[in-house]
Amino acid sequence: MSLKSKLKLFGAYFFRWFGFSIEPDLRIIGNPNRDSPVLLTCNFNLTVNRVLKEIKDLDCYLLIAPSNGINVWCGACGEDFKTDSVISIIKTSGINELVSHRTLILPQLGAPGLEPIEIKKKTGWSAKFGPVYAKDIPAYVQNNFEKIDISQNEVRFPISKRLEMANLYLFSLFILFTTIYWITSIFLPFLDFFLYLDSILILILVINGSLLILPSFKTKTGKVKVWIYEVVVLILIISFNLFLFYNIVFLIWNIILSILITLVMSEDFHGLTPIYKSELGEKTWKKGKNKMKFLFGEYKLQPYGTINIEREKCIGCKMCIEVCPRNVYCFKARENKADLKYSEKCINCNACVKQCLAHCLTII
Ligand code: SF4
Ligand code: SF4
Repeated sequence: MSLKSKLKLFGAYFFRWFGFSIEPDLRIIGNPNRDSPVLLTCNFNLTVNRVLKEIKDLDCYLLIAPSNGINVWCGACGEDFKTDSVISIIKTSGINELVSHRTLILPQLGAPGLEPIEIKKKTGWSAKFGPVYAKDIPAYVQNNFEKIDISQNEVRFPISKRLEMANLYLFSLFILFTTIYWITSIFLPFLDFFLYLDSILILILVINGSLLILPSFKTKTGKVKVWIYEVVVLILIISFNLFLFYNIVFLIWNIILSILITLVMSEDFHGLTPIYKSELGEKTWKKGKNKMKFLFGEYKLQPYGTINIEREKCIGCKMCIEVCPRNVYCFKARENKADLKYSEKCINCNACVKQCLAHCLTII
């Protein structure tokens, strides 16, 4: 990999809200033939890199569709990764000449924005949603393009992902904070190097600590979690200052700084995670707006509320079960209908509403 590509990957890891794209393309993996699988992903370079790593031992084709350098889920929710992106790459990549079948595997998290029926109509390709994570693709392909179990449907937020998310916010806030700190220090001489180092520790303690620990706890709102954690942080700061290193400037500065960071985090802590509904998104949507700004990005909003099913209209197509990343649904075979089983887990991603063939799902 060239130095430029490595730098772009680094940028994508830490500043992904600015979009880091690679050219839409067709990649040939291994030695595929006319019956080999055709997979598709978006053109966010970090995603492409991760998918390529996971499918390196397969013989297949990978279509990289335009999404303005946004990842699959955000792109599909925000209309950057859409049906037209898929149609355009099918038509321009030359894939029609390379294979004799017409089955395309889409990433499951593209479901809020992609329309298989439209793709079929305009290209003749039958699109099907594969697993959520690229690491599950080889097993999915081996299992004849069926998910092995519901774990392949579900979005998880393990420690490794929490750390990645925490570092993402930490790094951007670190640069912002450092700039403001040293400019302000021209006018406030007590802002010295030691206080700067101490401030970075507070940033790590509040941002990394809350994102690593708090998603595991259940409280009514993300705000409550973050403020409970802030109380613990304040106790630590005060204890440290009183018993180990008494310095009134450090004490006051640390208290103010940790409260300020917590204020920002509490605005939409749940929205920083993939397993809870964005509270700021819901509040903004209920005010009648369809876009919201938070930290470094602007996000297009889908409907927020409670997921609702009109069961009498359900035709048992199971698309909702196939695309729900929170496993909210169950299937009742005797009735041949889906039903809501864990509606409290719904994050309002809108995937099921978009994919339901009978239009019997709504978020109200
Ligand atoms: S039930 Fe909720 S989380 Fe599941 S697909 Fe529908 S909107 Fe998304
Ligand atoms: S997607 Fe709609 S029609 Fe299909 S099983 Fe789910 S609720 Fe029923």
